[in-house]
Amino acid sequence: MHELSVAQALLERAEAICRAEKARAVRRIQLRVGELAGIEKRQLAAAFAAIREGTLCAHATLAFHDVAAVWSCPTCRVDVPRGAPLRCPTCGRPAVLMAGDALLLERVELEVQDV
Ligand SMILES: [Zn+2]
Repeated sequence: MHELSVAQALLERAEAICRAEKARAVRRIQLRVGELAGIEKRQLAAAFAAIREGTLCAHATLAFHDVAAVWSCPTCRVDVPRGAPLRCPTCGRPAVLMAGDALLLERVELEVQDV
């Protein structure tokens, strides 16, 4: 199950950030999820919920920020309209994927010690 290893990697990165900041816990993790990243958000959230117990992320929530796929021509820099064939509308070259294929850790919110 792909989402479980992704959830594990996210949890480890969030915990590392939490330790580096000397925070008490991770409150919220915000992700940018590309349309073509191959991530099933519900499965990722379920996998995360299953492994966060007893970690610095035990009460952390996951938030998803969707990123649409963008294809464009490497030569003309023209974007291909959604639903159109993946070729440049101007010169006909095959379009390349410019955005929407990645999963990124956008933001981690921490709970800090009361001073
Ligand atoms: Zn072109």
